[in-house]
Amino acid sequence: MKSEELFRRASKVLPGGVSSPVRRFDPHPFFAAGASGCMLESVDGERYIDYCLAYGPLILGHAHPRVVEAVNDQIKRGTTYGVPTEGEIELAEAIIERVPCAEMVRFTNSGTEATMAAVRLARAFTGRDRIIKFEGSYHGAHDYVLVRPGSGAATAPDSPGIPVDTVRNTLTVPFNNEEAIVELIEAVDDIACILVEPVMGNIGCIEPENGYLQFLRDITRENDILLIFDEVITGFRLAPGGAQEYYRVEPDLVTLGKIVGGGFPMGALAGRREIMENISPAGNVYQAGTFNGNPVSVTAGLQTLRILDEGMYSDLERKGSMLRAGLRDLLSDMDLEYQVAGPASMFQIYFTGEEVRDYQDAKKSDTGLFMEYFCGLLERGVFIPPSQFECCFISAAHESEHIETTIEAAEDVLSGLKN
Ligand code: PLP
Repeated sequence: MKSEELFRRASKVLPGGVSSPVRRFDPHPFFAAGASGCMLESVDGERYIDYCLAYGPLILGHAHPRVVEAVNDQIKRGTTYGVPTEGEIELAEAIIERVPCAEMVRFTNSGTEATMAAVRLARAFTGRDRIIKFEGSYHGAHDYVLVRPGSGAATAPDSPGIPVDTVRNTLTVPFNNEEAIVELIEAVDDIACILVEPVMGNIGCIEPENGYLQFLRDITRENDILLIFDEVITGFRLAPGGAQEYYRVEPDLVTLGKIVGGGFPMGALAGRREIMENISPAGNVYQAGTFNGNPVSVTAGLQTLRILDEGMYSDLERKGSMLRAGLRDLLSDMDLEYQVAGPASMFQIYFTGEEVRDYQDAKKSDTGLFMEYFCGLLERGVFIPPSQFECCFISAAHESEHIETTIEAAEDVLSGLKN
């Protein structure tokens, strides 16, 4: 097996054999040889229906011909300039047209950089230091937010190397719990912002309960606290305007990533003009990057948003419902405890009999059983993220037949499992 051989080689030069923790799974990950549409091919010649989709960016599937063509054209004219381009304005305008709270945009290279800048900006704008985040939410790998995080870090939270003083001002509360926020806001002052993933996509997939996001909007407004939606996953995925359009709640700031770069590295911070104008050089809140707004990512992102305009969302929603209904249907006939979660083109299974509303509930899921389900699917040509604490995605390139094949594979795997 070439993957096994490559993994042995990789382990000598890359910590854990991978470049990002969640990519590692036992006995070893498969190595990619190429991909097209919804199919991912390994160096061993295996082909997988891909629901990991690089953890979210590939809403059009792999190597969409029009994105590839646009990027090729751009690369021939240069890959980065160190001076502004018209493309940056076009992409910023496209974001502002779609995302309700966006009046100005700062491009970054990753979601991590976007949330780091958002927290700094919120602190500067309000003159306060404390931030509230949710247990099990993941906002990237920087110091301010690695407190009770989700994603790969859910299994090893609170990384060493982060000074206690850096996270003293990062307070955490359970998701979908109004009382916890009310109590915290009454008990402490000096809160600059609430940073929230409107759908928790890094602890599986947990939707906000009816009215919860509006509650966050109301309480932040009443207390002059900024509300930041981290839409690195949900941005351009749930709707053109992301979760703020889907759930009709408008935050003060939004962080974007993944889809906004059309499969290339990119992040963005956007929001109300009055706040955004404090970013340097317009204001004095420092944020910078050699590759910020680089023309390759900008081109891919812009092309992706244009293709998405051609009416993809109802079909993504239909395929999401079809897959979730198929999974529920087959699980209802089995002797397994389960929850099938997710809105639109996001989904996940938890192996627990109890409803999953927050991090603590998600942690009760049988993760051993989940890994058996993951391995069983992989053997049958279906690739989902190798962790209970990630979310699965559907792309525009998945056809109904792919979904049907996936449901059949899941039935085959799950009928052999017990919890
Ligand atoms: N915020 C959320 C909600 C994410 O899911 C992620 C990554 O998965 C990030 C921020 C960090 O983005 P990046 O990996 O591009 O740094």
